[in-house]
Amino acid sequence: MGRSYIVHTFGCQMNEHDSERISGLLEADGLIAVSDQDDADVVVLNTCCIRENADNKLYGSLGWLRTWKHEREGRQIVVSGCLAQKDRDLVAAKAPWVDVVLGTHNVHRAAELVQHASAHGQITEILDAAVLDDHAMFPSALPAVRDNGYNAWVTIQIGCDNHCAFCIVPAVRGVEISRPFDDIVAEVQSLVADGVTEVTLLGQNVNSYGRDLQLAARQAGDADARLRPLFADLIGAVGSVAGLRRMRFTSPHPKDMRPDTFAAMAATPAMCEHLHYPLQSGSDRVLALMHRGYTAERYLERLAQARAAVPDLAVSTDIIVGFPGESEADLQRTLEVAAAAEYDYAYTFVFSPREGTEAAAMVDHFVDPAVVAERFQRLRVVVEHSALLKHQARIGRVEEVVVEGPSKKDPSVMSGRTRQNKLVHFTPTHPLRVGSYATVEVVSAAPHHLMGRFLELVAEPVHRRRIAVSAG
Ligand code: SF4
Repeated sequence: MGRSYIVHTFGCQMNEHDSERISGLLEADGLIAVSDQDDADVVVLNTCCIRENADNKLYGSLGWLRTWKHEREGRQIVVSGCLAQKDRDLVAAKAPWVDVVLGTHNVHRAAELVQHASAHGQITEILDAAVLDDHAMFPSALPAVRDNGYNAWVTIQIGCDNHCAFCIVPAVRGVEISRPFDDIVAEVQSLVADGVTEVTLLGQNVNSYGRDLQLAARQAGDADARLRPLFADLIGAVGSVAGLRRMRFTSPHPKDMRPDTFAAMAATPAMCEHLHYPLQSGSDRVLALMHRGYTAERYLERLAQARAAVPDLAVSTDIIVGFPGESEADLQRTLEVAAAAEYDYAYTFVFSPREGTEAAAMVDHFVDPAVVAERFQRLRVVVEHSALLKHQARIGRVEEVVVEGPSKKDPSVMSGRTRQNKLVHFTPTHPLRVGSYATVEVVSAAPHHLMGRFLELVAEPVHRRRIAVSAG
């Protein structure tokens, strides 16, 4: 029997995508995926430091993994991702039974480092930045094991050049680096050839894609560099790959939103009618403290342009409540802007300081947690009201869904996702495979999902494999 592995992922899509790559590298090295940790020889904890309590979760998991490791000869523990990048040598200092610690810039070294640790013992390898001429820095350039076969993330950019006061990403993911245009299109072509029908273009600030490539071209003396492709061109090129039914992107930054992106969305049939458009706060004063680079008015203006350009556009957002110094008047403004934006859904967060960020040092201005909790509830009321209205407006409509699998509560009910990224539960007349496309008529609505009546199967899935990657 070969050695086996399991990956536990904590965090965002970028982390999940890195986990697919780590899995792919380990499999290319002969390891076999298992879904039960007791069957594994290698456990990978792919960490995130954006989420609250990430440190506690990691060091808590490492505590019980110590026992797991000593139950069988040759077992190894790998810690990767943003928290490993941030904590560096601290991981091995706190948990010396960890075998490999690797950061965000050397995911491509995962299998080699596991082998190295087998032969030579514990290793911590953290790079300060991505190696610029090494395409392996883009997770999409590495072999992958995906947790389902019909959709895929495609990294178009790594790092971030912004400095939002609450965010640790620039510190752990480095500066923005765009992946070459043709590489992205080639990856999508190869994914579609493997049966993938939906891709999500992934980056920290996707709509500034390509600026660094333009700059580099200009510095190299290319006078036409300004004409080189940017995000809108990328949407068009990816969307024209034959066989691709759906494409999405996440996340754009409102300050870089331009009409050419909306025009490209509207002109690209595969582009789903969904825009994730992070507001963070509706108060201009708080937006300035956050260094977000836009005002609420400009945000709403661009949103109106997007809706005018793309018919039936669903819009989601991220909002933080209780940023240091947030006053009642600031919160009121956030409620007004959220109501005016009429979101389809919103991820709402209570501010929580991330060590190493500017906001974490604003301790004198932290808002009383009881006040924040009360504000959070008021915001939830506004966004759920708007989500319910948006969902109710879809009752009676026929929607195309891609089948995600049986509902968690009732296996006879299937869950599917519409182009607007809405979850629909429905009971098919015969079993449907994951990745099938079907039509449903929406019969009722709740703030977080729709109920549908199955109409017909539109397309069977054509992807080849499905291997589970566990999520933490
Ligand atoms: S744009 Fe702001 S919130 Fe997004 S990754 Fe960059 S710094 Fe963080």
